[in-house]
Amino acid sequence: MAAAPFSWIKPEPHGIHIVPADCWVDPSRAVDRALVTHGHADHARGGHGQTVATPETLAIMELRYATRDGATPVAYGETIRLPGGVDATYIPAGHVLGSAQILLEHAGERVIVTGDYKRRHDPTCPPFEVTPCDIFITEATFGLPVFCHPPIEDEMAKLLDRLAAHPDSCVLVGAYALGKAQRVIAELRRAGHRDPIYLHGAMEKMCRLYEEHGIDLGELRLVADHAKDDMRGSIVICPPSALNDRWSRRLPEPITAMASGWMRIRQRARQRNVELPLIISDHADWGELTRTIQEVGAQENWITHGREDALLRWCHLHQKRARALAMVGYEDEDD
Ligand SMILES: [Zn+2]
Ligand SMILES: [Zn+2]
Repeated sequence: MAAAPFSWIKPEPHGIHIVPADCWVDPSRAVDRALVTHGHADHARGGHGQTVATPETLAIMELRYATRDGATPVAYGETIRLPGGVDATYIPAGHVLGSAQILLEHAGERVIVTGDYKRRHDPTCPPFEVTPCDIFITEATFGLPVFCHPPIEDEMAKLLDRLAAHPDSCVLVGAYALGKAQRVIAELRRAGHRDPIYLHGAMEKMCRLYEEHGIDLGELRLVADHAKDDMRGSIVICPPSALNDRWSRRLPEPITAMASGWMRIRQRARQRNVELPLIISDHADWGELTRTIQEVGAQENWITHGREDALLRWCHLHQKRARALAMVGYEDEDD
């Protein structure tokens, strides 16, 4: 007797279980065999027996967890055969360096796990590719209609205008160390900003890793190596946690900014004492989520990792089969 459709793929609280391969996608605890979509801490954990991921994600994990045991690299577009007759193909997700959607195929059925993704241009990673499938498992971090990320060019212009208006200050931008920081730097370069950009020490290694993977970030300098006066009229990038920290006293009259999709919510900006909120996200906004569900055209959509309810309602209103998954441990560290 044939198995029930899609019985080989099981959403569990700590990850997506691929039953015949006994393998997990982005498990939130250590397992024998993990397929990892990207390097953010809520998806990539240390301690797995085998980790299958893109070479860029494996390099990020090596930097963060100082281990490379059982690393199995899979390039974009490449397919790996797992035990139990399951094929896994890694497809660009447009989220951060190395980020992938994972297409799983078994018994003629196709399931995509997106991990995190966005549809906007990002100079630091290849764009999301729409791929047909039967079940589309999508994130929903910004799954509310209020979330509409403005064009990044507008946010860069805000940042550069503020800098030009205050030549004796610096603008201190809080940005997550993996992905957001490098995207902000690359976008500043694209906007024509050629001056050195100063980094908090915690950002240095990840920026170097991006450069080693061919992402040009221009001249970067460490704050620790420079005097206060050197940094007047400059942009300084730090982790969000350093924005209101004693560390920032070494900077010349810093104007605090933060690059995050959450800056859409004024209260969040106020909580962090952010003077210049920059709405820059590496996740799909509401428009991108709904457009992607339309374009992929799966029979069924499984929604996870965020605000599932509104997207679930939207699917039902548009006659699309959908369900919300109850997964634990996925926090948007990254945005
Ligand atoms: Zn992420
Ligand atoms: Zn995530």
